[in-house]
Amino acid sequence: MQDYWQNYIDGAYVDGGAGRIDVLDPATGEILAQHALADEADVDRAVAAARRVHLSGVLSDMRPIERGRMVQAMGTYLLEHKDEIAQTLTLEQGKPLWEADIEVEGAALYFEYYGNQASTVEGRSVPLGANYFDFTTHEPFGVSAQIIPWNYPLEMTARSLSAALATGNTCVIKTPELTPLTNAWFARAAEAVGLPKGTVNILCGLGHQAGAALSGHKDVNQIVFTGSVATGIAIAKAAAGNVVPCVLELGGKSAAIVHEDADLEAFETDARWGIFFNAGQVCSAMSRVIVHESRHDELVERLVNVAKSLSVGPGAERIEAGPTMGAMVSDGQRDRAVGMVADAVAEGATLATGGHKLNRSGAFMEPTILSGVTPDMTIARDEVFGPVQSILSFRSDDEAIEIANSTDYGLVGGVFTRDLDRATRAAAKIRAGQVFVNEWYAGGVETPFGGYGKSGYGREKGREALWNYVQTKNVAIRMR
Ligand code: NAD
Repeated sequence: MQDYWQNYIDGAYVDGGAGRIDVLDPATGEILAQHALADEADVDRAVAAARRVHLSGVLSDMRPIERGRMVQAMGTYLLEHKDEIAQTLTLEQGKPLWEADIEVEGAALYFEYYGNQASTVEGRSVPLGANYFDFTTHEPFGVSAQIIPWNYPLEMTARSLSAALATGNTCVIKTPELTPLTNAWFARAAEAVGLPKGTVNILCGLGHQAGAALSGHKDVNQIVFTGSVATGIAIAKAAAGNVVPCVLELGGKSAAIVHEDADLEAFETDARWGIFFNAGQVCSAMSRVIVHESRHDELVERLVNVAKSLSVGPGAERIEAGPTMGAMVSDGQRDRAVGMVADAVAEGATLATGGHKLNRSGAFMEPTILSGVTPDMTIARDEVFGPVQSILSFRSDDEAIEIANSTDYGLVGGVFTRDLDRATRAAAKIRAGQVFVNEWYAGGVETPFGGYGKSGYGREKGREALWNYVQTKNVAIRMR
């Protein structure tokens, strides 16, 4: 492990004006490395570089199929370096090594998918009568600022960077201060595929310093933010100040509705992935399960068994895919989650299993199931962002939907039933950007993803996301 990592601005690796930040291994609490910390002047330099490249036209004038090929090659580069990236990711973020492998592969998939789409961003011809020829084109916004969270630092950057580059934008990435290291491979990939210097700039900095400077920068033309609601609101205000568009991918409190006819054995797998993958630090985690009262006890027993089956410990030792869970990202996040469980019990929830930190150093928490949760409890409304699942029960289909929709969020939702009519009705009524039927996380890079309500606005993934990165120009020609 390299002990000092620099920012990447205008094609050069540079120190940060704000000094350095320690990056900790959450599995041990020990310092893993240091990273340069950007200040406002570094942000200025990065934005200026990205703007220069944009205005030069070198990227936006390129034939899209060629630009797409470079984007795809970045994904190939990630796969070629999968082992070292995954190891670094596990050490800085805490997830099991096999989950880190999945994240590297997922990141590469975005570059493959959006690289492929580069030449498909077509305009249309609008009929205006015999004397006119009218057409639309889609042009990149220019400098795309992307502010990244710590839970999936690679995939979240890949998601926006690949689509932004495919559509001809230049980028300034503000990496998360807890997990900045793996983003270095995007700089290396950009160099390796021959993108002009200044096309991709990557800097680590504090949110209130480099993050705020970037989101409020007058030469940023578009912003993509993934993170918490509070920060999303600050960024939306900054974007409004400069009248630039932003995409907000915020948190969630997503619910799986489990009907009496559901296959509970199969649901165990959904719950395992839904709430314990990445130690529950997933915006679209299955943090609530709303089960028909007739199956409540059986389901709680099954979910407790799932939670107890997981071996929790250092991600670096968890190499093979299986029933394992790593550290949370920090002691602070773990303590917050443990505290929320204690508060839920004080409000009347039942601790079916887990709820405590592990008796060892490192940010480990027991996989946790709370039963007897009611919609009015704080735990049923607020995002934990940890391995904590709340079980609620319902009597009628309408009540299930009402509970599912009873939070301020609306990121994803799920319905588990053998009755397709019932599932279709529920899908129409659930207020969320994605609905999964009979498989949590069904979908992929191809399917649009984003929030209703306080989960944000705009869509990432799928073809929908491309339109975040382009603006439409209409050209009307009068023919004489
Ligand atoms: P966060 O909002 O604290 O930080 C996210 C990023 O914003 C970091 O890079 C941080 O430095 C930066 N930031 C903080 N303050 C800022 C400011 N004032 N101006 C500009 N930038 C600032 O979120 P987090 O704790 O890193 O991530 C967890 C949250 O992210 C959870 O709520 C989770 O649900 C959400 N999330 C959502 C998605 C999604 O796609 N919807 C994906 C992952 C995480």
